[in-house]
Amino acid sequence: MDELKFGTRDKRGQWTPHEPLTHAPLFAFPPKPLALLKWLPHYFLPWNLIWAASAAAWWVWIVPEKAVMQNLAWGWMLWLFAINCVAVALFYSAFELHLYVRRAQGTRFKYNAKWPSEHKSSAFLFGSQNIDSLIRGFGTGVPIWTAWEVLVLWAWANDIGPWVSLMDHPLYLFAVWLVLPVIHEFHFFCIHRLIHTPFLYKWVHSVHHNSVNPSPWSSLSMHPVEHLLYFATAAYHFILPSHPLLAIYQLHFAGFGAVVGHIGFDKMEVTEDSAVDSHAFAHYLHHKYFEVNYGDGLIPLDRWFGTWHDGTKEGDAAMNARYQKTKAKANAKA
Ligand SMILES: [Zn+2]
Ligand SMILES: [Zn+2]
Repeated sequence: MDELKFGTRDKRGQWTPHEPLTHAPLFAFPPKPLALLKWLPHYFLPWNLIWAASAAAWWVWIVPEKAVMQNLAWGWMLWLFAINCVAVALFYSAFELHLYVRRAQGTRFKYNAKWPSEHKSSAFLFGSQNIDSLIRGFGTGVPIWTAWEVLVLWAWANDIGPWVSLMDHPLYLFAVWLVLPVIHEFHFFCIHRLIHTPFLYKWVHSVHHNSVNPSPWSSLSMHPVEHLLYFATAAYHFILPSHPLLAIYQLHFAGFGAVVGHIGFDKMEVTEDSAVDSHAFAHYLHHKYFEVNYGDGLIPLDRWFGTWHDGTKEGDAAMNARYQKTKAKANAKA
């Protein structure tokens, strides 16, 4: 596919889509019913349906019997951990191998023409973005993800929490499934804004921001405190009447979904003239500029708080004006 039909590449090798980033029309005011209808398939396809399918597969084939999970025994907890490790290894590697090792579509639609593996940095463990990410992802990322999963399943098995039955309330649970991505976005925005406060940024979140040019493995490259907060997205199921299947969906949304936001490509080519959109541009800009796009745009939180960057020159200008204002304020204080 010709990337220049969809965007421009500057002299520094940065590719920018022609279309400015927009928020999902879900919270548009006044409401835009036509835009909403047009956007709706993107809400499900392909990613949300993939996480729904993977959560269902876990529920049917992986999650042990209720009676087994009433006790916190190592056997079933390590089983879930092992499966999560294998699934992450396979899923993340599929993107890494296709786009970054085989380089199947070259740099077409890649936001940054540089390859992270060709640029060693002392910011990373062993100087390598990938090795650093693998150690953090499997060292604390998947264990903490699994710990939240275990907590939810153990609580459900012991009737702790507002759990409802799949058989008795299928329509209600379907409605909950529909709003879970919105809850995730709200949760992610709040914890992300929190870890950008100076102290937490320095000690916790800077680890994730070492990847200025993110690639699939960067997704789970976080400090353990960030892993803990990030996967706490599952904790909403202790407040909201729900079912553990939906909590697993939400963990997959966070854990597997993270790879989509860090893929580094705007489109993944499927055939010579068709491609799947990654929707990774908002978060790519966050990695590039740090203080914009704390959320992914499902809820217009960044617009409401003045931190939205739509990828255009106007977005750059607004960001710089905000930066100058903050600097002037800091100087006035000093
Ligand atoms: Zn990120
Ligand atoms: Zn950040």
